[in-house]
Amino acid sequence: MSRRRFTVTEHGRRVRFGPSALAELPDALAELDSTRALVVCTAGQRDLAQAAVAVASDRVAGVFDGAVMHVPAECADLAVAHFRDRAADAVVAVGGSSSTGLAKAIALRCDAPIVAVPTTYAGSEMTPVWGLTESGVKRTGREERVRPAAVLYDPKLTVSLPVPISVTSGFNAIAHAVEASYAPDGNRFIDLLADEGVRSLLSGMPKIVADPADSVARSDALYGAWMCGATLGETTMGLHHALCHRLGGALNLPHADTHTVLLPYVLAFNAEAADRIAGVIAAALDTRDPAPVALQDAARAWGAPTSLAELGVSQADLSRVSGALAGDYVNPRPVTGAEVTQLLRRALAGEAPTAH
Ligand code: NAD
Repeated sequence: MSRRRFTVTEHGRRVRFGPSALAELPDALAELDSTRALVVCTAGQRDLAQAAVAVASDRVAGVFDGAVMHVPAECADLAVAHFRDRAADAVVAVGGSSSTGLAKAIALRCDAPIVAVPTTYAGSEMTPVWGLTESGVKRTGREERVRPAAVLYDPKLTVSLPVPISVTSGFNAIAHAVEASYAPDGNRFIDLLADEGVRSLLSGMPKIVADPADSVARSDALYGAWMCGATLGETTMGLHHALCHRLGGALNLPHADTHTVLLPYVLAFNAEAADRIAGVIAAALDTRDPAPVALQDAARAWGAPTSLAELGVSQADLSRVSGALAGDYVNPRPVTGAEVTQLLRRALAGEAPTAH
């Protein structure tokens, strides 16, 4: 497939990046004609939400701090009720992609524009993808109206992100770039974003592990997350994201940790199609080892989980949820059920991620 023939759509959205980006929240809301925004966050990010309220108090109608991972329907119902009670006209999502996910659930039902202030590297702020979990089943969809209209990337706000989450969230972002690099709807522009995003994240991550307050490293990682998130928003993800989604959903696994454990195995499985991005990863990690091995070694060295067993998964769990893993995968290399089983068995034990 030629990657030199493409159309790029910019979605008319404004992305501000810099150490004082949060201070531009009033401008971002004014540009959307919003005077009564609802700020949403997870319970743990209440302080960050208050920082947003402090800079834009004239334009904030309230705070809802009940965001939780995977947007449970009852949480979305409560947030929508808050939005309507306060006659709000926009949503400000402060925090990780769980906050952005909740903002998207409100946008879906109330047609409200979103200003995202991301403080993890997961990337939902750059995508039109929404998710909603009902009775343990997560539904997802793509709708342009939930893609945030403005994004404020302020690296200062990420300094408090704990190192373990910084690392796994960084792997989550790198996974977007890896799968975008062989996506059926990718192109050279996406490739450049993917390469630069990976380089920037892999430059920042070890420095964050050494010193979580390193402002240059925090900026590098968030800058990389922006680009990796952009690749996620523009392309169709493959085996890796489908596996994380299906396995994570069936066993209620932590999102970023699951990405961290599985990425080396899928990268090895798709080695032929992922040749270019694998070279970028190996160069960024300054190693002659194959990229999957180097990524797994880096995860281990930076204190992240490298096996499904570390996430509490057992062989019995894998057998029990095999039905949820069945079905087609969009992937550059055809995938059989037996290959998925084998890949997960190796990931369960944390075996070396070599091609098979
Ligand atoms: P998260 O938003 O749940 O955040 C993880 C933890 O980090 C939370 O406890 C949060 O309170 C904490 N945290 C966030 N920022 C912090 C900060 N600055 N300081 C201290 N603590 C901080 O995790 P996530 O990985 O960002 O998001 C995961 C969710 O997003 C999943 O539900 C996943 O499916 C979804 N997601 C959706 C998309 C999409 O395009 N729709 C993309 C990526 C992820």
